[in-house]
Amino acid sequence: MDAILVIAEAQDGQAPIAESTLKTLAVARKIGAGPVDLAWFGAGLDRLPEPAGTLNGIRKHWVFDDPRLVHPPASLVSRLIGSRAREYSHLLMPGTSFGRDLLPRLAGLLGAPLVSDVLEVLGPRRFKRGIYAGNIHTVVRVPDGVPVLLTVRLASWRPIVVEEGPAPAPVEKIAVPGTIPVDARFVGLEVDQSARPDLQSARRVVSGGRSLGSRENFALLEKLADRLNAAIGASRAAVDAGYAPNDLQVGQTGKIIAPELYLAFGISGAIQHLTGIRDAGTIVAVNKDPEAPIFKVADLGLVGDLFAVIPDLLAELDRQGIGR
Ligand SMILES: Cc1cc2nc3c(=O)[nH]c(=O)nc-3n(C[C@H](O)[C@H](O)[C@H](O)COP(=O)(O)OP(=O)(O)OC[C@H]3O[C@@H](n4cnc5c(N)ncnc54)[C@H](O)[C@@H]3O)c2cc1C
Repeated sequence: MDAILVIAEAQDGQAPIAESTLKTLAVARKIGAGPVDLAWFGAGLDRLPEPAGTLNGIRKHWVFDDPRLVHPPASLVSRLIGSRAREYSHLLMPGTSFGRDLLPRLAGLLGAPLVSDVLEVLGPRRFKRGIYAGNIHTVVRVPDGVPVLLTVRLASWRPIVVEEGPAPAPVEKIAVPGTIPVDARFVGLEVDQSARPDLQSARRVVSGGRSLGSRENFALLEKLADRLNAAIGASRAAVDAGYAPNDLQVGQTGKIIAPELYLAFGISGAIQHLTGIRDAGTIVAVNKDPEAPIFKVADLGLVGDLFAVIPDLLAELDRQGIGR
């Protein structure tokens, strides 16, 4: 019988269920090939992240809860999950760094095909995915009779609407063996302590390019972002020039994002940058060159000097009492 296993993003039970997991459940629903189970890896999972326990449409939760799994290495998780994985026709993970690390290993262990970066589900065994950094979409068909592993392109999916089921799904705790072979171990985590929204999940993003000219000038964008409760983004040229940190880069070799509103200041609109904002809602571009390629994808474009436009925008926000 067909059944789907969604491997949740690693987390503890304190935080609410990760949005990436909710988006992956949306893909599972769209596939609709049988019951959906959820697998959890982490530490402190006595209580599942809210509201996972009561989520509608889940048949069962498997929980691997162990202090050694606070930051679970993919090489370990793939071994833990390996034998059980064969019970499923579909195994899904968010296309996060954890998912992109784990699923190829699992595909190798199972000898099963992996479809990465799923943009659309066209049938239980037909998927649309991006190639060439998302610039070309291709349709992949997986033959019957083999399990298929899928990573989900998060920017292309909305999270499921959280609804309570008629009864909590059963939880099966799975013991983690005393000695686990590991060829990779967690060393440390550096987290940006910014109070701004996270770039990858922000509803609004204010982004700047090389034209900002210095790290100090980038602070102008920060002022605007704070007023709009937006995350900050940057082009690769701005990152390479040292105006913005590397983790703010948007695009093919940076983050792929899907905010409702993307404000691009002094960004030319190179194809590698546009790859990162393909799924954005409204794109607003300010550029002093009327021929800049960003205007081809912008919903609203303003030909002007960002050093004049941003102060004007801030003054208008002041006048309207927005974000003060
Ligand atoms: C393999 C590869 C991967 C890449 N990955 C990425 C990626 O992930 N993300 C990414 O962004 N790029 C990426 N790039 C680089 C990309 O090709 C561009 O070089 C880069 O996006 C350009 O950044 P920019 O728009 O800030 O700079 P520029 O191309 O120099 O554009 C600056 C723009 O600012 C405008 N401008 C100048 N002054 C002002 C002003 N005062 N007011 C308003 N407008 C002004 C100019 O008219 C111009 O349009 C990649 C390239 C390669 C080869």
